[in-house]
Amino acid sequence: MEKPAILGGTPVRDNKIFYGRQWVDEDDIKAVADVLRGPYITCGPKVEEAERVLEKYTGAKHAVVCNSGTSALHCACIAAGIGEGDEVITTPITFAASANCALYCGARPVFADIDPETYNIDPASIRKCITDKTKAVIAVDYTGQAVKVDEIRAICDEFGLIFIEDAAHSIGTKYNGKYVGNLADMTCFSFHPVKTVTAGEGGAILTNDDELYKKLVLAHAHGITHDEDMMEDAPHEGIWYYEEISLGYNYRMTDFQAALLISQMKKIDSFVARRKEIVKRYDEAFANVPGIIVQKNIPESDTSRHLYVIRLDLDKLTCTRREFFDAMSAENVQCQIHYVPVYWFPYYRHLGYEKGLCPNAEEVYKGIMSIPLYPQMSDKDVEDTIHAVTKLATYYAK
Ligand SMILES: *Cc1c(COP(=O)(O)O)cnc(C)c1O
Repeated sequence: MEKPAILGGTPVRDNKIFYGRQWVDEDDIKAVADVLRGPYITCGPKVEEAERVLEKYTGAKHAVVCNSGTSALHCACIAAGIGEGDEVITTPITFAASANCALYCGARPVFADIDPETYNIDPASIRKCITDKTKAVIAVDYTGQAVKVDEIRAICDEFGLIFIEDAAHSIGTKYNGKYVGNLADMTCFSFHPVKTVTAGEGGAILTNDDELYKKLVLAHAHGITHDEDMMEDAPHEGIWYYEEISLGYNYRMTDFQAALLISQMKKIDSFVARRKEIVKRYDEAFANVPGIIVQKNIPESDTSRHLYVIRLDLDKLTCTRREFFDAMSAENVQCQIHYVPVYWFPYYRHLGYEKGLCPNAEEVYKGIMSIPLYPQMSDKDVEDTIHAVTKLATYYAK
């Protein structure tokens, strides 16, 4: 049996690899530099072009790009009319922004539990969380796997709720053959560097609904309109005139970020293909490793995986998750944990949320660990990661 590096053995590799990283090439850099040399570095033609690219890719009618995935979620909540006294149902196994966006609007996030095999929000639990204050469901495609769209759609229709999909992980995923972005009432993407395509920082909201689209445009740019049909005081004094007709924010994306996004979108198919290839290799390699549980993928979801999450079966191992994580670092394979249940954080605790709220989420959290997954990984990086996981699972087997 091989000795873990943390106990004095030889690490599986000499240089460290991380759980995720962006892939920016010379074409991307040129695209950004060209914009910086030109007349518009913000509010220019690249922003609109990026929106058309996202519409074409997903099949959705409208896209609004903005400066982060978080602001995309905030805009979606504003467009959904979420406000003081409302409740918004989401999952605890997500980045905090999925719930924070409800708080920004004065609403209360309500946490539904997850499916213990897919780790996505469980529609049956959503149903149990619905009250007469519920306004929307923010369902997160955790690791890139689409949520149970049909079931959530049916629940939202039955109770008159807005279905917002937090697709920060899932650009490129298809559900029953249709791209994420073209499924929920509104879908939010993130273009943070660890995500599948990047704009440095950035986000987008996609919708097929003309009314929601108008509200999204206002929310992300000061609530200002140049459209005379939308103005209260038109006809107006001159062509310079615009009106603020609602309270909005400055959540705009710059033109050089939009140029980066457009350039990255040209490569999304190859990024997704490489991610799928690595996931297939991991799934095969871990299928029969005692102590390692592989995430279940529902057949409806043709998944573009953003994260590869292994779950340690701690009953079958002599180590803790912390020890396994530290041992992986010593092998020079840097993992990460996605995510601490959102309502465990002190800010949420002070709002009155208590541990024990979502038992499946808390149980799954104890064992999960994201191992490296990004398109630029070499086959050797992939095999080293598999080697490290199997080496440690074997050493720590009960
Ligand atoms: C990254 C992420 C966000 C926020 O996106 P930013 O672009 O970083 O603001 C929201 N939800 C989930 C699930 C994420 O992973």
